[in-house]
Amino acid sequence: MSYVIGLRCVKCSKEFLSSSVDYYCPDCGYHEGILDVLYDYEKISRVLTKEKLQNDSNRSLWRYLPLLPIEQPELLSHLHVGWTPLYEVPRLASALGVQTCYVKDEGRNPTGSFKDRASSIGVIKAQEKKAERITCASTGNAASSLAGFAASQGLPATIFVPQRAPEAKVAQLLIFGAQVFSVQGTYDQAWELCMEASRQFGWYNRNCAINPYLIEGKKTVSLEIAEQFFDQPAEKIPDWVVVAVGDGCTIAGVWKGFKEMHQLGLLQKVPKILGVQAEGCQPFVTAWKNKTDLQPCLEGDTLADSIAVGYPRNFYKGMQAVLESCGAYVAVQDEDILRSMTTLARTAGVFGEPAGVAGVAGILKAKKLGFISSTDSVVLIVTGNGLKDIHSAIIATGSTTKIEPTLEAVTAALKQ
Ligand SMILES: *Cc1c(COP(=O)(O)O)cnc(C)c1O
Repeated sequence: MSYVIGLRCVKCSKEFLSSSVDYYCPDCGYHEGILDVLYDYEKISRVLTKEKLQNDSNRSLWRYLPLLPIEQPELLSHLHVGWTPLYEVPRLASALGVQTCYVKDEGRNPTGSFKDRASSIGVIKAQEKKAERITCASTGNAASSLAGFAASQGLPATIFVPQRAPEAKVAQLLIFGAQVFSVQGTYDQAWELCMEASRQFGWYNRNCAINPYLIEGKKTVSLEIAEQFFDQPAEKIPDWVVVAVGDGCTIAGVWKGFKEMHQLGLLQKVPKILGVQAEGCQPFVTAWKNKTDLQPCLEGDTLADSIAVGYPRNFYKGMQAVLESCGAYVAVQDEDILRSMTTLARTAGVFGEPAGVAGVAGILKAKKLGFISSTDSVVLIVTGNGLKDIHSAIIATGSTTKIEPTLEAVTAALKQ
């Protein structure tokens, strides 16, 4: 039994029993009628206390089970998700010109990205609903993550990827045994096709924007960050948390997690959220700057494939995260993203994929625009592992020095 008391539509505020709807608000439809999972926080505050957490030997996202929409905990996957390290990196802080900088390395999750937090919930919801197959459309990481978790549970998966998905991510899908459709079109087209197929064939749909439960997994990153500051005085709690934004589900989850820890009395102050997009594809930034509604743009012209989303499917929640936290949205150029890959790797020893490191460039941009000040502390969530896209890493770095196998050659090369 979970502590979920219902689902609420973010558009019309109508509430539903979780047994009565699967995905989105039937009145508002899936473009706008995204649901939010509601919990009985009063009851949760009695079971999820600081002492309880500090004594809990489970070092994974399941330590937050009371805050998760799981009805059948016996279905939990054996894969280890979450409780990723939070590193303090002074050299990165000085490179960025901020007081303190922490790196939350999400590339350490089982399939190498933050998406594992969501997939680990998705496969359980599918099994609770007795679905025979699970599906999603993804630019890459949600797909490879779903494939891994479906494999771990013995649940068949059908996955729709746009043709531009990087090879390493597609390799992950295939090795985990998913059925993969490479849609000769954009991510948006792959997404709509997946929606239709899931309706037609009765497959459980993991698409994070329409499936209210997935964000619940994503929020655990903030439950962890909050907990990783338990022993620190309030003034040490970071001023900003920085994350790259595509559909808007990740940033929405990040914000929900902090709000919940605050509400439960487990976090004294909530950070501001900085959402980072690529200049080639920045619908959130444009809408936030101009205070307008979503104007979908063409599929992104950016090498950060994980955030090349022209039509964000979780616009409302993604926007609320920044508005409610008094944060900001910024866009960065691809060359700055490439530079971020080397900056992060060489100051922190953490290798992130382009979207994963975009926050580094985002912090610099936010400083330039006066949103972040040099006395601020920031947490950078590195959402994906760099090995997922070595092509970009190679563009960012350059080549090796070729030498003959002799010490003379080394000596000569050192002189150059
Ligand atoms: C999916 C993803 C994001 C963005 O998440 P959205 O929910 O689409 O906003 C950022 N970084 C990486 C590495 C991702 O895979």
